[in-house]
Amino acid sequence: MIIEVTDLHKSFGDHEVLSGIDLSVAEQEVVCIIGPSGSGKSTFLRCLNLLEDVTSGEVVIDGHSLTDKRTDIDGVRAEIGMVFQQFNLFPHKSVVENIMLAPVKVRGLSKAAARERALALLEKVGLQDKASAYPSSLSGGQQQRVAIARALAMEPKIMLFDEPTSALDPELVGEVLAVMKDLAQEGMTMVVVTHEMGFAREVGDRVCFMDNGLLVEQGTPEAIFDSPQETRTREFLDKIL
Ligand code: ADP
Ligand code: MG
Repeated sequence: MIIEVTDLHKSFGDHEVLSGIDLSVAEQEVVCIIGPSGSGKSTFLRCLNLLEDVTSGEVVIDGHSLTDKRTDIDGVRAEIGMVFQQFNLFPHKSVVENIMLAPVKVRGLSKAAARERALALLEKVGLQDKASAYPSSLSGGQQQRVAIARALAMEPKIMLFDEPTSALDPELVGEVLAVMKDLAQEGMTMVVVTHEMGFAREVGDRVCFMDNGLLVEQGTPEAIFDSPQETRTREFLDKIL
């Protein structure tokens, strides 16, 4: 298991947002997390790479416990790529510079090597002709594909996606999901918070339904979508499908 979460609790003040989450993710597995707004999905993802510190419980990434003070947190974080709803590209840097930045600054890669890697990643996400463009000249779907390439430039072992297509116009969603599907098929370990039930069904190895800070139900996409066991899961799916 490359991710092992045990009895994870997270509170903001006296508001408990995560109330005891257990989840293990195997290498190369694609886990999709679905659930209503406010159920704690983003907070959970953010706990996985310590963008939030956890209130109690344990998160182990690739054998490193995030709550163990001896763990090199930045080292573990570097193994995890994250893509958000908002792409957060640097507006004053070109596409290729956006992708080169972290490998040069954090990994000490030479600019030439970083550029070569960036160009290969741009080809992978279908944007090789946009290397010198600036983010503002790109569509939302293109920007999100650059954001994915930028995360991949650090050669992460795990990719976390938090509603990566929710800010996109409907006609741009498919191109981003296609890149994510390719990545899954290449064996990337992925945890994907999404409202795209078609993607979860087709690409997910496992679907987890979260509600009110709890992982209510998990199973294969067929099990969750076709025969959910829990009332709350059924009610959620009835509303959105
Ligand atoms: P989801 O991603 O499922 O919509 P979130 O994890 O964003 O849910 O939020 C879960 C709950 O935690 C919400 O009630 C939200 O208001 C609260 N929350 C999230 N982040 C913070 C924060 N930094 N401070 C206080 N409350 C927060
Ligand atoms: Mg969220």
